Amino acid sequence: MEIAIIAHDGKKDEMVKFLKEYEDFFHQDHIQLIATGTTGNKVKSAGFKVQPYLSGPIGGDAQIAGRVAEEKCKMVIFFRDPLEKHPHEPDVLMLLRICDVHNVPLASNPASAKLLIKGISQAD
Ligand code: PGA
Repeated sequence: MEIAIIAHDGKKDEMVKFLKEYEDFFHQDHIQLIATGTTGNKVKSAGFKVQPYLSGPIGGDAQIAGRVAEEKCKMVIFFRDPLEKHPHEPDVLMLLRICDVHNVPLASNPASAKLLIKGISQAD
């Protein structure tokens, strides 16, 4: 199962903390993590195997949207920072829209991500 991990700058530390909290889930063999560039570097430094794409502002969110559109990426965890402006907001909105088009689960904050992971773990 391919899962995309993305965090805006103000949420990257929270993302790493979240991944560590659920490391048993994320370290399973059938879970493949992909990420936008800078998030991916942080996730890798925290000890997770991850396929990085471009940094968000230069097209990483768009690349991940492509994975969702091709039905390769099955879930997106995107910790957005609602208190900051982002130059690539159109790409972010496009990714959210593509998740809805393809009915792919999307968590935009830790509470939602926690529920998704619990749901998947119970279904396994
Ligand atoms: P980044 O991109 O992981 O390269 O910082 C995330 C984003 O802002 O979309």
